[in-house]
Amino acid sequence: MTRSTDSPFVILPEEAAPLHLRHCDRCELCGHRARVIWGEGNPSAPLFFILDNPGAREDREGNPFLCGTRETLRLGMREAGIGTASVYVTYLLKCRPIRAYDKPAAREACMPHLQLQLREKKPLVLFGFGNVVAEALFPWKENAAVKELRGRWHELEGIPVGFTYHPLAVRRRPNLLKFFVEDLTALKEKWEEVGGKQSK
Ligand code: SF4
Repeated sequence: MTRSTDSPFVILPEEAAPLHLRHCDRCELCGHRARVIWGEGNPSAPLFFILDNPGAREDREGNPFLCGTRETLRLGMREAGIGTASVYVTYLLKCRPIRAYDKPAAREACMPHLQLQLREKKPLVLFGFGNVVAEALFPWKENAAVKELRGRWHELEGIPVGFTYHPLAVRRRPNLLKFFVEDLTALKEKWEEVGGKQSK
């Protein structure tokens, strides 16, 4: 499923947003973005990764380039033995912010899109990256930060969900790489426990 499986960078084929959501204007980010980014990777993958929001690479249609998030993600997945074809990657917010915005309002507005994806794709295990995702998925939890949530399994929409550090945090603080790989290895074990098989 990857364009370049030998590359250290994860560049997965993009899944287009459903037609009726390509011009979504549920929040102010519709005035920031170039386009709505629905997700990338295998749409029927058992593992569903949630990042915070698209970056510049995703915002520029048809112009993929190497990015630090994907490089680190790919490194962690390789160390944990997770193939890229087993993964779908999406975002809490489907549009790239380019200036300050009302974060709680945008998260609330975009959550139905994530819920729709979960209903349609029915992944076996979810995995969130970074504190922004942790806080948004568990707004009622005190201390919904990765360092509090990682190492245990939680539940969202009836699906097990785990957390680890954002790949860019791992790049900035290389001492986190050990924990990042540990968490992705635990994800692989959870997937095996719930009956998963590695996609080729
Ligand atoms: S961030 Fe989500 S809710 Fe806001 S405009 Fe984009 S797709 Fe719609």
